[in-house]
This record gives sequence, structure tokens and C-alpha cells, in this order.
Amino acid sequence: MSLVSKTVAALCALAACTMTVDAGELRVTSDFPGGSAQVVQIDQAARRVSIRPAGDPQFGWPCWWYFRLDGIEPGETITLEVVADQLKRANGQALSANWALPRRAAMSIDQKLWLQTQPGVRDKNRAVWTAKIDATTAWFAWGPPFLPSDAEALTKKLDKSSPHATAFTLCRTRAGRAVPAITVTEGGDDDGTRMAVWVQARQHAWESGASWVGRGFAEWLISDDPRAVALRHRAVVYFVPIMDIDNTATGNGGKEQVPYDHNRGWFADTQWNAIKTAKQKLEALDQRQRLVAFIDLHNPGANSPKPFFFVAAPSLVSKQRYIHQERFIKACRSEFVDPWPLEKELKTTGPQYDPLWKRISANWINQNTQNYAVGITLETAWNTPHSNTTGYQMIGRRLGLGLERYLRTDPRENGPKQQ
Ligand SMILES: [Zn+2]
Repeated sequence: MSLVSKTVAALCALAACTMTVDAGELRVTSDFPGGSAQVVQIDQAARRVSIRPAGDPQFGWPCWWYFRLDGIEPGETITLEVVADQLKRANGQALSANWALPRRAAMSIDQKLWLQTQPGVRDKNRAVWTAKIDATTAWFAWGPPFLPSDAEALTKKLDKSSPHATAFTLCRTRAGRAVPAITVTEGGDDDGTRMAVWVQARQHAWESGASWVGRGFAEWLISDDPRAVALRHRAVVYFVPIMDIDNTATGNGGKEQVPYDHNRGWFADTQWNAIKTAKQKLEALDQRQRLVAFIDLHNPGANSPKPFFFVAAPSLVSKQRYIHQERFIKACRSEFVDPWPLEKELKTTGPQYDPLWKRISANWINQNTQNYAVGITLETAWNTPHSNTTGYQMIGRRLGLGLERYLRTDPRENGPKQQ
């Protein structure tokens, strides 16, 4: 404790002061939605805080961390260390520290504006960042958080601010939490033949950047941009900001949770309510020959510098569907321009990628829908100077522009004729 804060504490004691936090004494808390941190050490004199991610591997990779730090003297420089030397997967195998240690941490003093720290210093399974903070409280996280309350607030805001957006609850989770979602379209679709697009994020709870990409997409979609207006007139767009609400709420990673995670849960008897409901809606859209695109938003491994698409293994993609897929990717490529263009290479989710590959959502689309429906995964890199709320939302807008460009031609050659 500094001399000043000691004096404050002494004065407070004399005056029976009810202050809950001694000014100047650093204190970590994470018992709030999405929070995850176990304190390793707080060195009050060195103004250094050390934590471990605290997720339970049963609920997914314990790479996510997010905590609040009180007791900062405004203007001082704080040193933050994350120790990732004991990360385990649910099967007991070690999880690489790379997943938990971004080059730049996310920080905020109001939980609205999230910024990146300067690059940290990595030493094997730990990393250290420093940040000068002009507030008494700050929040630090693996990446910019996007919580169930943010999904609720976003869908409500879009609904309120646009006559073309309608918020709805996709379902309730196993733990009883609401899964907020939204549809966007403009003008009459009286005969119900309009093309349908489905965009969803966060089947893996720790991949918070995916929700920010989705937010950028949805906010662009209700905007006055003539190309957003054009897309709204041609298509009905469904958007789910967070599929795995429960693990996002509890600060767990979600990926590879027991018995299977949301993106390995697309099969008939899935236990996840968000998937059950999404599948029902997608099947209904497909039966009415409306579903033309399904995009699943994720964050990839630590070493990806650019956004990229995961496509289904060739054995799952019919010739006809492949042509649509290529055309969609080409349309996106012309929108994902510098400074953060799409990776040239595509990656493939086949049997080598994961033994449960056929239960991946985009692969379910490829196996169960009409040949003109593109089912694809967009992975947005999280370990770059662009991997912040601004960069993620930019990628979301570009996805919207890519979809608009792609859907200027209706891919349903064999489907119902359009007006
Ligand atoms: Zn993922």
C-alpha cells in the first residue's frame, strides 16, 4: 500500500468510513457474467497483477480470461501477467498456452470502449503486458468481451432503431437463459419466397471476436448504405450473436466441452437447444427453397494473420454447390480489401481436421440442404493489431457487402422463379 493510501485507510478507520475499496490497493474480481480469473499473485508495491484463466475444462478450453481490477491510482502504469502453464483439455491433455496469450490484451475503463494494450512480452507459458490507466477501475480480457447482455442489448437496439429488424428469442438454453436473435428484411415478402441467409456466432464461447464481427454485420445491415438496403430487399437475414450463451455467461471456453461442443453438435439428437431450434428453422427455410447461405463465425488459432474461410471437405460438397461456394468466396474476396484481406488459401473441415467433422454446423448444411445453399465458416484472426472491436466490425461489414454482391444473382437456378 502506498503512503497516501495508508493515510487514507487510517483516516477512514478513524471516521468509520464505509469505503469498500482502499484507494490504491489493487484488487481482482471476476465474479460477474463472463468473468474468469484465478489470482496467482498481486504485488502491491510493484503494481503487478498475475492471474490464471479459471475456466473448467469440462466446459471447454480454459483459454478465456476476463477480470476487473480496482484500486488503480489514475495515471499509474499497471503490469499484468497471465500464467497459462496448466491449461488442460477435458480429456486431460495439455492445451497450448498460445490459446490464452494474445500478443495484445483487451482493456477498458468503462466496459464500452475496448482497446488493445501494447504487445506484451512472452516468456514460455506466460505473458506480461503493461498499461497506463487513467481511472481507478479497469477491466482486462483475452479479447473484447461480448456477453449475453450485449446480445440482448444489440438485438433490442436494432429492433428499436430499424423498422426492418425484428428481435426474437431463438430458445432458452439448458440453464434457462434466453438466446437473443434477430431477423432483418425490408418490404413485403408476401409470397414467402425471398432468399434466406443465416449468420451465427459463438458456437465456441471464448471466441468473442466472432460476436463483434456479427455486430458489425448486423449494424451495417440496418444502415442506409444502398447496398444494405438492396440486400434487405432481396433476402431475409437471420442473425444469432451468441449460440453458446451458457458458457459465455459463466466465462468458460465452450470449445471441446463435454460431451461435445456446439460446433460438433449438429446431429439429430443434439442436446443443445440453440442447435435444435436453429436446425428446425433452417430445415423449414430449406424446404420452402429459400435458404441460400449459412455463415458460422469463429476465431481461429493464434498464428492466423488474416481472416479465412473453412469449407467442407470435397466429399460433402456437390458439384453444383461447389460452384455457388466458389462464387460466394469470390464475391467476399473483392470486398475483404487491404489492410486486412482474406487469406488466399481455404481450409477444409474434413476427417483429418476432426473425427466429429460431419457434426460441424456448416457441414450439416452441406449434407442436408438444397444444392444452392452455401454452408461455410468465417474465421477472423484474433492475434493481430486489427483484432479489436473496430477491426472485427469492419470484417462484419465486409461480410455483408460480400453477401450483397453474391446475391445479386439468385443462386436457386432450380428453385422457384423470383419476381
Ligand atoms: Zn471456433
